[in-house]
Amino acid sequence: MKMDNNSLQSVFNALIPWYLEFFRKLPWRSNPVPYQVWLSEIVFQQTRIEQGLPYYHRILKTYPDVFSLAKAKEDDLLRLWQGLGYYSRALNLHKAAKIIIEKYKGVFPNELADIQSLPGIGPYTAAAIASIAYEMPVAVFDGNVRRIMGRIFCISNPVSKDVCKALEEIIKNYQPSFFNQSMMELGALICKPKSPDCDCCPVKEFCCAYKKNTISEFPSPKIKKEKAKLQLLYFKILRADMPGKFALVKRNRSSIWKGLYEFPIIEGHAKDEIVLEFSRKYPFLEVIETPEFLMQGKHELTHKSITADFYSIYCSGNFPSHWEWLDENSVKEKGMHKLMFEFFK
Ligand code: SF4
Repeated sequence: MKMDNNSLQSVFNALIPWYLEFFRKLPWRSNPVPYQVWLSEIVFQQTRIEQGLPYYHRILKTYPDVFSLAKAKEDDLLRLWQGLGYYSRALNLHKAAKIIIEKYKGVFPNELADIQSLPGIGPYTAAAIASIAYEMPVAVFDGNVRRIMGRIFCISNPVSKDVCKALEEIIKNYQPSFFNQSMMELGALICKPKSPDCDCCPVKEFCCAYKKNTISEFPSPKIKKEKAKLQLLYFKILRADMPGKFALVKRNRSSIWKGLYEFPIIEGHAKDEIVLEFSRKYPFLEVIETPEFLMQGKHELTHKSITADFYSIYCSGNFPSHWEWLDENSVKEKGMHKLMFEFFK
């Protein structure tokens, strides 16, 4: 079957009624206020609904509108985000809220180009917000759409530009919010990457891969690059004049975990003995006792595999003024990334 107007209309004539009967009753669907649709699209990037829903509710309760979000303290927002990962999403959300206040007087923009110009919003998210919040006839393209289109039309490598062009020829014949969300829902509930539930699929009679029993071949898998490995050494630095306290530093060097708190760190393997490595990185501190190994943590990001070794170390000397000294109770008030969070669990 060719991916043309007629065949696509047959697919959506079956898919949208199925969506309207079976869609998950999510809060931004019954009341698609632009702020809430935007928040949902950011929270659920790379995140399953079950995992992200408690975060969505907590953030919305704390920041019910773009004004309160723009006024939020970055640390408070990061703390609410703690455990959800991909923290740049929270920082971009915050930056975008400020832009919406300054440039759009607090009204979420309703032009596609303006939506896409906001931090943290790419073509998929812009199309999703525009269609769900404003019923704009723009088609979304992501991994779900790639997989579904690949299977229905037996296309090994569906190209975003071609699929969007074909979908946008017919999206105006439907309600754009239902059109896009019906595909999202089919991808999430039925046409899953592994073991799709074809028997329950509303479009199986139009599906080329189903008819030919070649579902696993479509679309062809993307070639995965091997992940880079990153080794970190974290130091819980203790000092005699502040018993029970240790230093935390706000991270600002790179985009990973920017703005979150962690122990003083050395990036890379310990090539020499730990004390020597530590003294090279922190020459203004004197190590008083042999460091003690505490634990090893591991964390997987999309492009990186991270291993972190945690040590405690007693020091004296000239501690940097930007280091914050906390204890086991006060540390819980800081936004930290998953490795640190695991450490204090
Ligand atoms: S029939 Fe199966 S493979 Fe085809 S669209 Fe439906 S769930 Fe996906």
